[in-house]
Amino acid sequence: MFDLIIEGGRLPDGRVQDIGITGERITAIAPRIEAEAFEVIDARGDLVSPPFVDPHFHMDATLSYGQPRVNASGTLLEGIDLWGELRDLATVEEMVERALTYCDWAASLGLLAIRSHVDTTPDHLRGVEAMIAVREAVKGYIDLQLVAFPQDGLYRAPNGRQNLIRALDMGLDVVGGIPHFERTMAEGAASVRDLCEIAADRGLPVDMHCDETDDPMSRHIETLAAETLRLGLQGRVAGSHLTSMHSMDNYYVSKLLPLMAEAEISAIPNPLINIVLQGRHDTYPKRRGLTRVKEMQAMGIRVGWGQDCTLDPWYSLGTADMLDVAFMGLHVAQMTHPEEMARCFTMVTETNAEIMGLSDYGLRVGALASLVVLDAADPVDALRQRAARRLVVAKGRIIARSARRDAQLTLPGRPTTLVRRAPHSIG
Ligand SMILES: [Zn+2]
Repeated sequence: MFDLIIEGGRLPDGRVQDIGITGERITAIAPRIEAEAFEVIDARGDLVSPPFVDPHFHMDATLSYGQPRVNASGTLLEGIDLWGELRDLATVEEMVERALTYCDWAASLGLLAIRSHVDTTPDHLRGVEAMIAVREAVKGYIDLQLVAFPQDGLYRAPNGRQNLIRALDMGLDVVGGIPHFERTMAEGAASVRDLCEIAADRGLPVDMHCDETDDPMSRHIETLAAETLRLGLQGRVAGSHLTSMHSMDNYYVSKLLPLMAEAEISAIPNPLINIVLQGRHDTYPKRRGLTRVKEMQAMGIRVGWGQDCTLDPWYSLGTADMLDVAFMGLHVAQMTHPEEMARCFTMVTETNAEIMGLSDYGLRVGALASLVVLDAADPVDALRQRAARRLVVAKGRIIARSARRDAQLTLPGRPTTLVRRAPHSIG
């Protein structure tokens, strides 16, 4: 007797399987489960995927677009200025409410694990207090990891280092950084060394905003990789954005990528934000600013797509849908071969789960029973349509249902029901 059976869905690897769930775990996966269940979901013809995972977000700032005013220049730097005003105006209650609304959106779209950077700059640390409350409030359905993020610089901001340590003492999960925003290249490199040592001392992972600039000489990723090796942090360190790599000299990159691979650094580009914020100082040709995704993957470097922002001082759009993120990434990185498109789906599911170290993740017996039923034939079809999430299961419980996106047509001689599935599977 199962609590729930998801019947006949197609898994991302192409197999058609039934999935049996007992309590909060997957307890059976087989071509046919002949057993009773309290509820059976018919997923025949649909894609059944492990949940979406976002390894890079800012939940303290989300859904604040237009407060205190919009970002007129559209640049990273004006966004940082605006946020600097907003974080001192917003109350803990307001930040919690905005974040919980975002988590509702995420839950409805099957986004069930999020790593959020939390600004540790201000002495009041209200954002840290608010996000710790949110982490607790959503833990039944979203795994929220919180990164201590010195937004205004570890050394550049007054009390920057001291407040980051205070935030870690309050219980944040990951050590962040922003070396390209320190006053000098030397201070940026020193901040990377310092932060990696803090992480090593505390046994924490590292995830830095790193080289989020079009300056080809912004090379803090090199220091991050070298410090990872020096301190034995392999597999626990991520570099977010890495946009300067887009503009770097090819010879230098040919030396950098093997070092990153050796240090087992993960890379987290954020394509919606990178394509909007980078290249703002260019005329034409205008750089895309996205890091070298396919080239890193060819070197065996783990690369996942992150969302970064939704309706905040840096980004005026956003949906909490990781299929939107992967769709943009696929275009900007020109990952249009069927294998590359399928990989983009894996990046926002399994790869991101690996980056976040989610050990109970996946469609396998013994894993947490968290999954998504999509109105799509396969992962590529899901990306193409940004398909509806028919059903979302979190830790054994159904938490969201949505309608398919079929349309009713009233055209003479044409079908009355339109289904926008691809005519044949290409995944
Ligand atoms: Zn970010």
